[in-house]
Amino acid sequence: MTAPVVVPASARALLATHNRGKLEELRRILAEAVPGFTEESLVSAGGLELPDVVENGVTFAENALLKARAACAATGLVAIADDSGLAVDVLGGAPGVFSARWSGRHGDDAANNALLLAQLGDVPDEHRGAEFVCAAVMVTPQGREVVETGRMRGRLLRGPRGGGGFGYDPLFIPDGEDRTSAELSPAEKDAISHRGRAFRALLPALRDALA
Ligand code: IMP
Repeated sequence: MTAPVVVPASARALLATHNRGKLEELRRILAEAVPGFTEESLVSAGGLELPDVVENGVTFAENALLKARAACAATGLVAIADDSGLAVDVLGGAPGVFSARWSGRHGDDAANNALLLAQLGDVPDEHRGAEFVCAAVMVTPQGREVVETGRMRGRLLRGPRGGGGFGYDPLFIPDGEDRTSAELSPAEKDAISHRGRAFRALLPALRDALA
C-alpha cells in the first residue's frame, strides 16, 4: 500500500513533472490567465514525491496522459502534464518519444546531439527538415481528458550553435528564423515553441476546469 499523497491547502492543480523550468513557466501563465488562480495554486509532482510513472506509450499524447492520470488519481487534483520531442523528416519522425534517451542515456543532451548529427551526416541541406512536437494534457477528477498538440517546424544544422535552451535546441533553426532555438531568448522561444503553443491551446479547458 502506498501512503496517501498530502496536498498543500493552496493547491488547485498539479503539474506532473519534476522539471522546475516548466513549473515556473506554467505557474506564471496560469496565474495570469485563470481568474482567482495564484502561483501557489499550482503544485509540482516533484514537491509531492508521487510514485514514478513508466512512460511506455509510443505517442506524445499517450505518455502525457499516463503522467496526468497517475497524478490526478494520487491527489484528486486537476492534473496537467506534457510530453515532447523532436521528429526528423528523413528519420520518419524519430527520435520522437525517444528524444531524451536517443543515445541510450536519459537526458544526455551532448550524446543525443552527436548521435543525431552522425545519423544525418550525408543528408543534404534541403532534406534536413524537422519539427519539435509537444502534447499538453489536462485530466480532471471527474474524468475529463483534454489533449492539445503544438508544433515548431524548422531544419537541422551540421553543428551546434548557441548556449540557451536545452536538448536539441543548438541544432535547430525554426522556420522564419536565422538563429537556432538555443540563440533565442526564453520569451522569443515560448512565443513560437511547440510547448508554448500546446499550453496556450490548453488554457480554455484549464480555465473551465478551475473556474
Ligand atoms: P520532455 O518532454 O521534457 O521529456 O523532453 C523530451 C526530450 O525532447 C528532451 O529531453 C529533449 O531531448 C527533447 N526536447 C523537447 N522539447 C525540446 C525543446 O524545446 N528543445 C530542445 N529539445 C527538446
